[in-house]
Amino acid sequence: MNLTSENYYSVEANREYLSVSQYKDFVGTYGKPGCEEYALAKLNESWVENMEDSDALMVGSYVDSHFEGTLDLFKAKHPCMFKKDGNLQAKYLKANDMIQRCERDELFSTFMSGQKQVIMTADMFGAKWKIKIDSYHPGKCIVDLKTCQSISKVFYHPDSGHLNFLAEWGYYIQGAVYQKVVEINTGEKLPFFIAAVSKEKEPDIQVIAVEQSLLDEALADVEHNTPNIVALKNGEIEPMRCEQCDYCKHTRILKQPIWSSELIGEV
Ligand SMILES: [Zn+2]
Repeated sequence: MNLTSENYYSVEANREYLSVSQYKDFVGTYGKPGCEEYALAKLNESWVENMEDSDALMVGSYVDSHFEGTLDLFKAKHPCMFKKDGNLQAKYLKANDMIQRCERDELFSTFMSGQKQVIMTADMFGAKWKIKIDSYHPGKCIVDLKTCQSISKVFYHPDSGHLNFLAEWGYYIQGAVYQKVVEINTGEKLPFFIAAVSKEKEPDIQVIAVEQSLLDEALADVEHNTPNIVALKNGEIEPMRCEQCDYCKHTRILKQPIWSSELIGEV
């Protein structure tokens, strides 16, 4: 299957290729635990994600589509975001503030001025991978645009301590996979950057360089976890349920009462 911008997100493409978001469905990140059964259910289309069209999510997609250069298509797909005169509804106006904040910064604009939405594929760790780069500067660097609640937000987990938003949402994994797939295609190992803009009342911006040691660490995890995902996708092993996600709640079958002491589980 030859990937294009039209079929990149199709079920067929997701079955043939592994992507970072699919990997995260299976394995999870600190912020969102993985669930193998849910990930497979999405692939067989027996579970359709309930994409809450939350305002914050729509604002993020609007900003993404602006930098992709696909704002017209986005407007056509989401007419409800706009008033009759074609301007954004008041609750989404922040998206324009965010875009303007990014574009009035020279460094941010330079990093976002690469080739947009570049698709690459590679065989890696026994799977066929697909990636789509937000802003690719051949021979120089790989840039991914992220909208977030707050760039400096700290996430706490009892086992791992305090994490930044990159660790929380698995962006080191993304950087590691993107860097490796580009290297397999071009022979060049390029630095990975996150161009971040926050959805705060006063949008905050940063271009964040990801340390190579963190990418190496993330890639080692990917190498370790990929064979299991391939076996799951091939139906060779049974998926595990997380018993926490919406899919697991929806499909839970009660067999017997549980003890009250089981409610919190092991903390
Ligand atoms: Zn689950």
